[in-house]
Parts: sequence; structure tokens; C-alpha cells
Amino acid sequence: MNKQQEFALQAVEENDIHFIRLWFADVLGQLKSVAIAPGELEDALEEGIGFDGSAIEGLTRVSEDDMLVRPDASTFQILPLPGGDHSTARMFCDILTPEGEPSMGDSRHVLRAALDKAKGQGFSFYCHPEIEFYLFEHQTDWTQPPVPIDEGGYFDQVPRSSSMDFRRAAVGQLEQLGIPVEFSHHEAGPGQNEIDLRHTDALSAADNVMTFRTIVKEISLDRGIYASFMPKPLVDQPGSGMHTHLSLFEGDSNAFYAAGEEFSMSQTARQFTAGILYHAQEITAVMNQFVNSYKRLWGGAEAPSYVCWGHNNRSALLRVPQYKPGKINSARVEFRALDPTCNPYLAYALLLASGLDGIDKQLELEDPTDDDVWELTDAERQAMGIKPLPGSLDSALKQMEKSEFVASVLGEHVFEYFLRNKHAEWAQYRQQVTQYELTRYLPRL
Ligand code: GLN
Ligand code: MG
Ligand code: MG
Ligand code: MG
Repeated sequence: MNKQQEFALQAVEENDIHFIRLWFADVLGQLKSVAIAPGELEDALEEGIGFDGSAIEGLTRVSEDDMLVRPDASTFQILPLPGGDHSTARMFCDILTPEGEPSMGDSRHVLRAALDKAKGQGFSFYCHPEIEFYLFEHQTDWTQPPVPIDEGGYFDQVPRSSSMDFRRAAVGQLEQLGIPVEFSHHEAGPGQNEIDLRHTDALSAADNVMTFRTIVKEISLDRGIYASFMPKPLVDQPGSGMHTHLSLFEGDSNAFYAAGEEFSMSQTARQFTAGILYHAQEITAVMNQFVNSYKRLWGGAEAPSYVCWGHNNRSALLRVPQYKPGKINSARVEFRALDPTCNPYLAYALLLASGLDGIDKQLELEDPTDDDVWELTDAERQAMGIKPLPGSLDSALKQMEKSEFVASVLGEHVFEYFLRNKHAEWAQYRQQVTQYELTRYLPRL
């Protein structure tokens, strides 16, 4: 037993916890949970708890269906349940094979492996996610368009707004769970909100995104409304992204900062950024994993569609925010394609590996694009060497499947499972006759 494990056991006893929820993610980043009684915890921490992995997306092939989940004691938190109920705690888990080896289908392990590699090069990786979502009226008929709960816009202070109330409740609960929040505000769409988490190491950031999605969903249901992270729920309104600010540290010092350089960017920051640009097209399927994700990427409203970087350019894929004098540790780059439905473990693993590959290959960063890339013609973009992001899930998968790089970061198991699952989604979507086609074609054809 290490100190954290002892602490978790003691906290269960002292707080009279009755249920311990063991959380883990499937390959698509859906949260899975199994509750154990306090008496089981010691065994779970030491050896893991067995479960049938074959029913979980991407975990096992049918022939090797027994898996173990072992809670990571450093993630122990008491859940803030309605009515001040403190009977339940949660821990994120690592997934192991019956032999106690990391499961090749465990996306948390994929991120750990990428982080270990970075550590070998002297780097730790930090992420600061900005999570956007819509709040809609309660809905059960999913064939009807959703109705936003307010008419607010960007940074609006909506009087007596339930959005503001909602954000206050969400921030309060997140903080009780040890997840510090930096900003929260109304976003540009009606009923659209954003909550930005403070930067943490990437593994905690990914765990935090998982917790965030559950907490926000639960608070909305408690209030009789519906929170959605769907990337583009409304045709004429902005989509929801999960921009993430990235930085590398060497010990205590921010490896992205260099005094006196353009945008205060170090050579490391420039090569890291160049690495992400280099791999951008082949990693998109994981950043934007649903058919609907591409409606956001190509729907304007400040979502990125082209592979370029900029400083004050909100249509760029990567943005280097204004450096705050004296705040060396705030030097970072913002990756803007991600949407909040991604598997954050896989997404952060690929971003880190792409950036590190840029450092390994000593890639040169091209000049920033300060025009709004949307305003340029295709020919102008081509002349400037600006490539588009994939236009659909189908073309993103085609880029991904020929990528040895993505296969090596995800591991063959996750890589193949992901492609199989997503090709099936595309095949199903391609057969649909949509409302758009009916209203457009039926009256004319
Ligand atoms: N909603 C936009 C997106 O989808 C971002 C808007 C913003 O935060 N600037 O990426
Ligand atoms: Mg923001
Ligand atoms: Mg925003
Ligand atoms: Mg942003």
C-alpha cells in the first residue's frame, strides 16, 4: 500500500462512505462506472476488481473477456450528490489484463504511455481545457430541434438567468471535487456556456474532462433542463468546442517561454507547434470523432477549418495567446479543433506525441497566418501552403488509417477498434435520408 492508497482507505472510513464508484473510459471516451462496497476497496487497490470487458466498447476481443479495474488512489474524491448526500466517492481506474499488465484497450494507459515518453525527454505536459456546451429545455422527443434555455450571447450578463445559476452550481461542484475553474461565461449561442478549467498535468486534465461531462449532465437533469456537448446542435448557431491550451514544462520552468523571441515562443514551442500542424490531418478523427463534429468544423463561427497557426487569429487551428508580462508559466499554445465529445485521453496523447515529434524532427514553424483564412480563396490558401482539415468523418478516417504515427501512439488495438467503430458510424450515416434532403428535393424533384 502506498500513501495515497492508505489515504483513500482512511477517507472511506472517516467519512462513512458506503459506495465507491470505480470510473473508467471506453475507447470512445464514454464514462463507465461500477460501484463497490467499502470492504472491497483494499483488494481493489492491490489487485484490481474483475469484470467482463467484452461488453465495453473497444476493451477486449471476445476471446479474452476478463479484465481488471484497479483504482488510482490519487483520484479519490467524495461526490457532491443532491441533498448533501456524502455517501459516495469515486476513483478513476487503470484497466489491466488478468495477468496484471496494462490493457491495450485502456485509453488512460495510452495517455500515460505518451506522458512517460515525454518524461524520458525531460518534459511534463500541461493542459487547460475550455469546455463549451448548450443548455436546452427538457426534451424527450429527439426528432424536434432543441430549444435553448435563454437568448444570451457572448459574455452576456443575462438578468435572472438560469445559465448563470447553472454555471455557479457547476463551478461549486467541480471545486468540491478538487477541479479548479478559471473562468466561466455565457458563450455566443443562445443557451451556450463555457467553463474553463485551470491547467493541470494532462492525465488529471483528461480525468477532469470526464468528471466535468458527468457533473454538468447531472446538474442539468436535476434542474429539469438538458446539457449537451454535441459539437453542432443548431444549424445557424456556433458549435461547441473544447479548445485546449497546451504547454511543456522542464522541471518548474515553462519550456515554451523564451524572453525576447517573437510571441515569447521558445524553439521548443515553435517545434511543438510545427509538429501538431504536421500531424493535424491524420489526428483529426480522434479530435473530432463524430459525424456531427464536422458540421462544427465547417460551420464557421470561429471553429477552425484550416491547418495554420496565428496570434490573433480565431479561425486558426493553433493560436498563441498574448503573453502576459511576468507570467512566464502562462506561455502556451491553444489547439482549437477539439470538441467536447472527444476521448480526452486519446486526444491529449496524440497532441503531445505530435508536438514531441516536431521537436524530434526539429520542424521549422512557418510564418503565422494573420488573415482570416476563411476570407482567402482556395488558390490563395494553396499558394500559402494552408491545407484544410478533413471535411467529414469519412475523410478524417481515410487520413487516419494510413498513419503509422497515429497507430504507434494509440497502439494497434485502440487504433483498429476506433477505425472499425467509426467506419460503421459513417456507413450508417451515409444511408440516411435527412430532413434537409426531404425539404430541399421533394418539392422540386
Ligand atoms: N464555439 C467556437 C468553436 O466551436 C469557439 C468560440 C470561442 O471561444 N472563440 O470552436
Ligand atoms: Mg475561452
Ligand atoms: Mg469559447
Ligand atoms: Mg479559446
